[in-house]
Amino acid sequence: MGALSSVGASGILIDTGIEKILLDYGTKIQEVPPKFPIPIKGPDAIIASHTHLDHIGGLPIFFTTGDSIPVYAVNVTKPLAELLLLDSIKVSREEGIELPFKEEEVKETVKNFLPVEYRKPFKLYKTEVICFDAGHIPGSQMIFLNFGDKTLLYTGDFNTKDTRLIKGADQDLPEIDVLITEATYSDREHPERKSQEKQLIQIIEDTLAVDGICLIAGFAVGRLDEILLVLDSYGIDYPIFVDGMAKKGITIINRHKNLLREPDSLDKALEKVEYVSNERMRNKIIRNPCVILTTSGMLSGGPISWYLKKLYEDRNCSLVLTSYQVEGTPGKILLETGRYITEQLELEVEMFVKRLDFSSHCGRSELFKFIEKVNPEKVFCIHGDHTEEFAFELREKGFDAIAPLANNRIFVI
Ligand SMILES: [Zn+2]
Ligand SMILES: [Zn+2]
Repeated sequence: MGALSSVGASGILIDTGIEKILLDYGTKIQEVPPKFPIPIKGPDAIIASHTHLDHIGGLPIFFTTGDSIPVYAVNVTKPLAELLLLDSIKVSREEGIELPFKEEEVKETVKNFLPVEYRKPFKLYKTEVICFDAGHIPGSQMIFLNFGDKTLLYTGDFNTKDTRLIKGADQDLPEIDVLITEATYSDREHPERKSQEKQLIQIIEDTLAVDGICLIAGFAVGRLDEILLVLDSYGIDYPIFVDGMAKKGITIINRHKNLLREPDSLDKALEKVEYVSNERMRNKIIRNPCVILTTSGMLSGGPISWYLKKLYEDRNCSLVLTSYQVEGTPGKILLETGRYITEQLELEVEMFVKRLDFSSHCGRSELFKFIEKVNPEKVFCIHGDHTEEFAFELREKGFDAIAPLANNRIFVI
């Protein structure tokens, strides 16, 4: 119902004839107003792959009428979803847009969350469900459905490689007939992680050497926490500040230490970090060289806008983008044009700007390797800008693969 030939607004409805199970119901945040998947009437159950808004951003739509529908997710996803959904309402309002739900519906939504544990089967009517660690962000899951005569795996967003924050996806999977896979990076490989880490450290050192400030922009959940671990592993001997929603995101994740690759890693990294609590503090910290980690990852709002307005002309300062930059977002436009353009402003940025790849998705070869290992009868390619090319390549390798398009009905028997 969404994320077809693109990233954003993920939504898959599984109708077995007995029960309707909805896997994710996200938003396409980069569109104004944000888009949702194809509208549907209340499903019997919802399973959320992880907390990113492109997967859960539309869930409150089902809770505007007082209905109760169980939403199955790993425990950490519940508080993170509440945080991100409330923020999505706030950000939309700042842009003059009212989403089709309000704060009360977000509260209602999270009340319906039920915790699942990795690898622990449960039943939804006739269907058996098992969730496997997807290795994408803390609490991310691949959803396995066993209908009795057929099985299906929806990968959600996944990463088979370990990061500093979490372990790679669980690949010890049952037999899978139908695979619905994300394909964000189906057309490219990630650069070697070490090289990205080294470049990041180099940029920080170069910036601080000329008394500049290094701004690091990234997603609040699963990215800035990863960056903190990188900085910690290279030895932090400079002031580090964390501002914006990342503070809450990191605090929630750190309460679920069992989901981290090394349970105490964030505690250790946070010893050297100070949280920014208000604008007065912001004004104070930008007087001296330091590193500031903040949101939003694609520069579309959040404290990063405040800092950019203050520092954009300073050639001794730098900005590192650590998240994927979707087409049309201020971050992407800045990389392409050198200008920071939002609703309110247009700035010619003089700072040093660099995007580094700290992706938490499989790269091209990991995607192929995973699909070859799973060896399904049928593959659906979604959640990527090049899903049709990817499906074509898979067909060339002998797989029965397609990239569904909007309003296409496909019957799998
Ligand atoms: Zn994601
Ligand atoms: Zn996604």
